[in-house]
Amino acid sequence: MASLYDLDRQYFSQLLKDHPTYRVEQIWKGLYNQGLQLQDITDLPKTFRQELALVEDLQPGLALLAEKIGDKGKTIKWLWGLKDHRQIETVLMLYPKRATVCISSQAGCAMGCTFCATGQGGFERQLTKGEILEQVIYAIRTAKQLNSKLTNIVFMGMGEPLANYASVWKAIRIINQEIGLAARHITVSTVGIVPGIRKMTQENLQVNLALSLHCANNESRNKIIPIGLRYPIEDIFNALLEYVQKTHRRVSIEWALMDNINDSYKDASELADFANPLDAHVNLIPLNPTPNWPTRGSNTHKVKQFQSFLSSLGVNATIRHNRGTDISAACGQLAAENTSSKGLIKIQSLK
Ligand code: SAH
Ligand code: SF4
Repeated sequence: MASLYDLDRQYFSQLLKDHPTYRVEQIWKGLYNQGLQLQDITDLPKTFRQELALVEDLQPGLALLAEKIGDKGKTIKWLWGLKDHRQIETVLMLYPKRATVCISSQAGCAMGCTFCATGQGGFERQLTKGEILEQVIYAIRTAKQLNSKLTNIVFMGMGEPLANYASVWKAIRIINQEIGLAARHITVSTVGIVPGIRKMTQENLQVNLALSLHCANNESRNKIIPIGLRYPIEDIFNALLEYVQKTHRRVSIEWALMDNINDSYKDASELADFANPLDAHVNLIPLNPTPNWPTRGSNTHKVKQFQSFLSSLGVNATIRHNRGTDISAACGQLAAENTSSKGLIKIQSLK
């Protein structure tokens, strides 16, 4: 078992068949509703908790290898070791009235986007539902310890969530139904996996969908986002149009501004042609630097200019401020390289 959060209620019923039935509910509520570790579920007798602690299947799936703190304590990045020693990262961002966790859906990513540190490292494996959930639950616990509350979850860490559809959706259902976080506070970001968008159209939860477009013509896009060869812009557009029409939900478009690659008026105009019929909101961020890609992000002037190009073309766009660039925790910088413990500060020092 990759993580105790992969186990379902039936597993616990079977394991505890010689115990009173309410024990299962106590464990379930403790783990999901209260976000506790098994040994901290005080509704359970201490000796019983000690017994549970010895069960192999009930061990966590993620071991904390490093914790980095950036933005004066407001951004925290965790590097995790999985049971098979693969590594993933999770980023928690604290704001005055909310907290967002950016979680990974795969170890590595097969999509190969040239500008993304995860893509540069290639694909390792899918995460299980439990490994996805464990990141969320750890973030809930940490936010609480820091007198904050986890309010939002974004699938914008390592990996392509729609290429791990089944596990991602199983995790989303538990986040919604057991942990109790509203679906509209969960965002799935995709590079444009058309079958995944079509499946999301059939789901009955109000989860947000974000498309990482970055270029709105196939020729330029395919150079930096190779999976575009399989799913061209027209197909992505048609899938999104159906999604918007059927679900009445809004989609957002991510556009990382790359100097002289996608920041001209022509680029803005192609983006407007894509976004306007979908009534999509655009999020702009200057590209973050990564080790194996020479192009840098557009400067502040160009970012603002691009926003006003869009505005003149009838597109609403927000400039997003990056979190965690000082600890390589910003969008596209997650590479899970545990090379040193430099910058490792224990979270206790923040309390
Ligand atoms: N695979 C999914 C989700 C993870 S990537 C996707 O691609 O949407 C999360 C976001 O970070 C995406 O919008 C992605 O395009 C963006 N991103 C990747 N590398 C980046 C970089 N170097 N600078 C800024 N954003 C980047
Ligand atoms: Fe994968 Fe998203 Fe990075 Fe592209 S941007 S390589 S899809 S994680």
